[in-house]
Parts: sequence; structure tokens; C-alpha cells
Amino acid sequence: MDQIHTLNFSHVPDRISGLVDLAYNLWWSWHPEARTLFKELNRQAWRECLHNPVKMLRIIPPEYLERAATNEQYLHRYDIIMYLFRRYMGSANGWFHEQYPAREHLTIAYFSAEYGLHHSLPFYAGGLGFLAGDHLKECSDLHVPMVAVGFMYSEGYLHQDIRNDGWQDAIRVTLDRDAAPVTRVKNTAGGQMVVRVPFFDPPITAAVWKVQVGRIPLYLLDTDIEENSPQNRTISSHLYSSDREERLRQEIVLGIGGRKVLQELGVEYSAIHLNEGHPAFALLEGVRERVEKGMSFTEAREQVRGTSVFTTHTSVPAGHDVFPVALMDKYFGQYYPRLGLDREAFLALGAMRDNADFNMTALALRMSGFYNAVSRRHAEVTRGMLCDFRPDRSNCEIPFDVITNGVHLCTWLNPRMRLLFNTTMNPACPHWEQEHDNPELWELIDEIPDRELWETHFWLKAKLINRIREVKRRKWAAWQDTSENLVAEGLMLNPAVLTIGFARRFSTYKRADLIFHDLERIKRILTNRWRPVQIIFAGKAHPADDEGKRILQKIYRFAQQPEFGGRIAFVEDYGEQTAQYLVHGVDVWLNNPLPPMEACGTSGMKAAINGVLNLSIADGWWPEGYNGKNGWIFGEETPDGDRDAADARAIYDLLEKEIIPLYYAAGMDGIPCGWVQMMKESIKSIAPRFSARRMVGEYVHNYYPAMLRNAGYPVPPQ
Ligand SMILES: *Cc1c(COP(=O)(O)O)cnc(C)c1O
Repeated sequence: MDQIHTLNFSHVPDRISGLVDLAYNLWWSWHPEARTLFKELNRQAWRECLHNPVKMLRIIPPEYLERAATNEQYLHRYDIIMYLFRRYMGSANGWFHEQYPAREHLTIAYFSAEYGLHHSLPFYAGGLGFLAGDHLKECSDLHVPMVAVGFMYSEGYLHQDIRNDGWQDAIRVTLDRDAAPVTRVKNTAGGQMVVRVPFFDPPITAAVWKVQVGRIPLYLLDTDIEENSPQNRTISSHLYSSDREERLRQEIVLGIGGRKVLQELGVEYSAIHLNEGHPAFALLEGVRERVEKGMSFTEAREQVRGTSVFTTHTSVPAGHDVFPVALMDKYFGQYYPRLGLDREAFLALGAMRDNADFNMTALALRMSGFYNAVSRRHAEVTRGMLCDFRPDRSNCEIPFDVITNGVHLCTWLNPRMRLLFNTTMNPACPHWEQEHDNPELWELIDEIPDRELWETHFWLKAKLINRIREVKRRKWAAWQDTSENLVAEGLMLNPAVLTIGFARRFSTYKRADLIFHDLERIKRILTNRWRPVQIIFAGKAHPADDEGKRILQKIYRFAQQPEFGGRIAFVEDYGEQTAQYLVHGVDVWLNNPLPPMEACGTSGMKAAINGVLNLSIADGWWPEGYNGKNGWIFGEETPDGDRDAADARAIYDLLEKEIIPLYYAAGMDGIPCGWVQMMKESIKSIAPRFSARRMVGEYVHNYYPAMLRNAGYPVPPQ
């Protein structure tokens, strides 16, 4: 079915009308040269639109478009970029087809509750979403046949505003769907397609939208439509409702409604990839469809298992989604008979040892024939999960399969840094970006002159700090913020100072305030007269997480205090855009969750490929990433006494003995050579191995063909 652009773009001159197609394909989000086509129309407008091309085309005065349409230089670049875009979209063959030539009708349906693609689409809360977004972008690049399903969250996760006393408020911002890179999916009558989630009473309906991620369509469900009762309208307003019943309704819409969308669109797919347990009802629905065609439950389940992969991202039992049995009865009372099951057998699908609730991870594990953890350490931690749902506790010693997460290189590598890499990579390998998971290639990084790498890094650091100050300046002009808040939000930051970044969700296990464990010691470190240090924080606490908000408030209050000398900054409303500036621009990326709670973590990878050095506890991906010379590791397995005190001490010791001296050991030319050496080591050791390219390659080799074979397609064995 056709998509419809929601708006009239007749003011865009014919000569450059391809900009409209380009704006509606997130291809631009990982091709900086495509973004410059919009940026060059008018830089001021581009900033005001927060780098959103659709909004840009809507608000820009037509004379700027007309001017561009007659500017030869602009047109020349426009033609080249449109050619590249159309070639990308039009090419029928790529990596996947080389690997698996018998590819007819093979499609993987990817289900996720969140997607982090660009900040103009606020459909993410954190790492899980960016992993999904990066997965889609990489599958697009590699020609992996995929279709994705998720939610159109009209109010996003939360928009953060910090009060004067440091408490996080959530301000309500409703997404302007007409100014975002999404299109309505059309039905046969020409209106917007709407699906009805079957078997639930009162019925839930959802409108269908589409985001085009390169070659991959992502379909989004939106329940905020008139046909729905007020209770149903809010199902898709926010990510991860803290109301259990609403959360269950979300997951029903995602799993069962999501499948319905694909069915009504006529999309055929042979296998399902679940990103975390939230969409696991999609697998039940696969069983139901088969049972209604006459198969037994057991047979149907075996087919579904053979064609499903489940990626789990949560290390701790408390992190898994569970629903009380009473709620399951209420919503699935009409449904489980259609699976050919009685109540007891149905509830057993979500049973986990020692817990009466219905557990979505347990369901996903029971219904998927393939499952993986997202780092080696996570696999060890999670192995207990497997026996928790096996009554005979067999196979408890078998670790999960592992596919360590990776990040999409072209999304997270700063364009200016990329230009620098080009200067040494291109002469040896002109298409190095297409081979970027090859570690040998990255040895060429050593040939970049120290001065150039340092100057590029320093330029990015200045850019980060300028941006923080500029945002603050505007807020001050508009609201006359207090001087304490100006300081707390970064007015005093100085690019010459060693800068630590800490930005992620403010879940308590991430211990954002750990570095303040010994206040006197951290104060001495930050305010040292000769070798000062500054820290930039950003992150949001879940709206229902008061403990997370208290941690945030504590940090914000320190940032307001003159004794810390303006060396602490808290940047409001962390999102994709802020993340880009931070992972490109700080010197050190700090990560100190409580082990073993971090399944993987990806922000450190984004930092590392830009030459930002990781200072991380031995948890998640870092034990795999650390090689002794590309950053710093700390955290004993079982420290004596107070874990927080021991970990904080380890951070102070590393800062005082290694990190600060190395950073401030610049030669006569102002370049800290030891530091730059470590930056190179970080880039070349991490970029190829922790790339989404390596990750998607592993999913493809380990699971996708096996699932497709189980689905009955003739896939040759590798
Ligand atoms: C990458 C990213 C995350 C995930 O970071 P972790 O290190 O896994 O916590 C969260 N938020 C944003 C905006 C990101 O870009």
C-alpha cells in the first residue's frame, strides 16, 4: 500500500522536489552529506528545527528554497546526493544476497517496544531503543530483508525540566506528527489505515504510521484516535507505563496488534526477532493462527519456536516484565481457548520459579527456539534464567548464546572525525566504510598525525561546550534563570579542562552519584588549581522512580554549589542529540553501574569510536572491550566491605594516578602524546568489533538462515 505524505509540499520547487523524499527517509540520519542539503537552505532555521528535515521543509520561507533551486553549486551537490540516495534505495543486491542467494520471500519481522533513530522521533527511553534503531540501520545497509513494528508514542518517554531545587519535572510535549519524518499508511479507501486488535473487549484500534529507515519500513501503532475510548487512547502516549494494566494493554497492542498490521498490509515474513520480552505476545499470536488452521498447540508451538529469536537485555529478575494472574485472566480469558489450551496450561507459559505472576521473559524463552544475551558477562549472569523456568532444572550450566551489542558506525562516528579517518584510510582502502568491521583496516588509524587527531577532538569538545552554553544562554534570556542554575547547567565549563561525561538513564543501579561517595576527595580532584577536572552529567529518571530523581537532585545541588567551582554541569533533557555531542566531545566516558546489572551498555562504544576514553567498571561489554591500553577498568569481583566505597576509591585512584597526569602531560606543542596514543588504541580496537555490522552479521549467520530453513525455505547451509 502506498504511503501518503501528510502535507502539501507544493512550495518545494520541482527542480529540488527530491528533498521531500529524502526528508521522509531516515537515510539522512546516517549520511551527513544529505543533512547538509537541508542545513544549507538556512542554517538558522536548521537549528530551530532541531535538525529535522521534515520540519525544515515545512517552516522555511519559500524564497530560500527558490534560491537553492537556482544556485548551481547547490544543485550540483543536490544531484550527486540524490543519485547516491536513489542508488542506495534502488540496488537489489547486497551483502545479504551474496551470503544467501536463495532469498525469495525471506523477511524477518523485528518487534521492539522502542526505537532510537533520531531525536525528532521520541520513541525511545535508552539503550534498548538505540540498539533497535542501529539494528535496523545496519540491516538496511547490508540488505537484510526486514520489516519492523513498534509504537508511535505521542508524548515520548518524558521531557525533562529541572526545578530550582533540582527535582525533575516531566513537562508534557505532544509530538507534532505532521512535523516528524513519519507518514500515514493509507488504506484502500485512501484514508489512514487502522487495525483492530482482535479478541479484546472493548476492542482496541490503532492507526498505522510508517518510518522509512533506509530500505526498511518501520510500522508504528498509534492508539490516540477518535474510535478509541479515553482509556484506550492513552495506550501509546508514553513508553513503559508504570500502571500494570496499561502496560499489559501496551504489550497486547504491540505483539498482537503489530502482527495484525503486517497481516493487513500483506507483508509476508518467515521469522520473528523479539527485541526484549515486551512484544512476546506476537509469538502466541503465531500459535493461534496455526491452531485455528487445524494444527495442535504442540505442533504450532514447534513451528513458532523454530522461526523465532529472542534477545534478552535484562540482567536482574526485577527488570523483567510481569503481570498478575488476575490481569491475565481479564485480558486473555477469551484468548487462551483459541490456543487450544486450558487456563492452567496457558498460565504455565509465563511461569517462573518462585513467582506467581505471568512473566514475559519466561514466555519469550518458551516460545523461541533461539535466544541470546548481549554480552559474555550477561550470558553468564542470565544462565540461571534458563533453569528458572525448567521444572527439572536441567541445563542450568549452559550459558546463553552471546551476540554482544554493537553501534551503527555511520550514525555515531562524528562526521568531522570521519573526514580525518578518510585521510589515512582512503589511500589504502577507498571504500573502507563498507569494510568497517575488518580490524586490520583500523590499524591505519596509527598513521593519523597526533596533532590532527588532537585538534579534531578539541574542536569537538569546544563544540559541545559551546552548545551547552548557548542553550543555557537562551533559556536565561527567556526565563531569567538564577545564577546557581546557570552554573549548574554548564555556564562555567572550560574546554581546556579534562572533561568526564556521564550520561544515561538515571536508574538506581547505574549509580550516577557514585563519584560523590567521598565528597572531600572528589572536591579536591575537581577544583585542583593546576590540574582541574570537570564532569558533565545528563540523564532522565523514569517518572515513577523517585529514588532515581533523588539521585539526580543530589547531583544537581552539588552542581549549584560554589565549592565545586562550576566544575559540575547537569545538561537537561538527555536525548539522541545531546548524546551525539557528548560522545563526540568529552575526554573520558565514565560508567559505574552496580555489577552485574549492566547487560551490555552501548554509550561507551559510541564514545570509544570517537577517541573518547572509557573509564568503566568491569561489567557489561567492557570486560570484552578493554585490552589493557584503550581505557581504564576497575571494580573487584567481590570487594571487602562497602561496594560503593571500594568502587569510588578505585575511580579516585585511577583519576589521580593515571588519568589526570596523562591528560595534562602535554609537550611543548600542547599535545598530550600519551593520551592521543590511547585515543588511537581506543578507536582501532573498538570500532570494528563493537560495530552493529559485526553484530548483525552474527545474527544473520547464527539465526536468520536457520530460522528461514525451519520456515521451509531452501537456504543453503553455510
Ligand atoms: C546509546 C544511548 C543510550 C544507552 O546508553 P547505555 O550506556 O547503554 O546506558 C541511552 N540514551 C541515549 C540517548 C543513547 O544514545
